[in-house]
Amino acid sequence: TQTRLIQAEKLSIAGQLAAGIAHEIRNPLTALKGFVQLMEGGASFNPHYLQVMGAELNRIEGITNELLVLAKPQANQMTRRELASLVQEVVTLFESLANLRNVELTADLEQGLPEMNCDSNQLKQVFINFLKNALEAMPCGGRIDIVLRRDGHRAHLAFADLGCGIEPDVLARLGEPFLTTKENGTGLGFMVCKQIIENHRGEVRVESEVGKGTTVGIWLPL
Ligand code: ADP
Ligand code: MG
Repeated sequence: TQTRLIQAEKLSIAGQLAAGIAHEIRNPLTALKGFVQLMEGGASFNPHYLQVMGAELNRIEGITNELLVLAKPQANQMTRRELASLVQEVVTLFESLANLRNVELTADLEQGLPEMNCDSNQLKQVFINFLKNALEAMPCGGRIDIVLRRDGHRAHLAFADLGCGIEPDVLARLGEPFLTTKENGTGLGFMVCKQIIENHRGEVRVESEVGKGTTVGIWLPL
């Protein structure tokens, strides 16, 4: 029964996700179709149409890109990696963007942790997503502190920002598909990250205070 329950739960999540995707993609599709009909009807060329169509296409692309990460679990590329070097790669990638947004980025990474068996591309995707959320929470700049420490038989990684924080009702629902407070958000990033970490037998915990900031903690078995 235990496995049946888990199975049923998974099905309902898949169903929820499918309904959400259909809904989220149908809106921009409806808009695109409207423009096609307009042009078929002989409407004169308007560069504004193209701009809106581009934005709608970007939205569909964003949704499909985030979902692709979930869609190919069997294509996992497992390698043995030391977390500090993996995180450092992402930090290096992110430094110029943070700089551009007036965000100070610090990384205090414990070296010499045992290598862990992981899909490094997927883990990097997770770190990038959490850093992106932190950045987006500080539109006027701020700071992000990344800390990696050994915590018993696990590695503990924290991304702490001084951003807007998360309202308790949103915090309680974090991980649900399409939960977003952003005008151009997909609301898929966190769910995908949580899934990837859980696929690595890890755990994600979020602490947040409105107006003060957010800390996303990840624990991964070594
Ligand atoms: P998206 O970024 O597309 O909105 P996510 O799944 O990445 O979707 O995040 C869901 C929501 O959680 C965001 O819209 C935001 O409200 C909240 N959130 C996540 N991370 C943070 C953070 N570091 N600071 C403030 N809010 C956050
Ligand atoms: Mg996001």
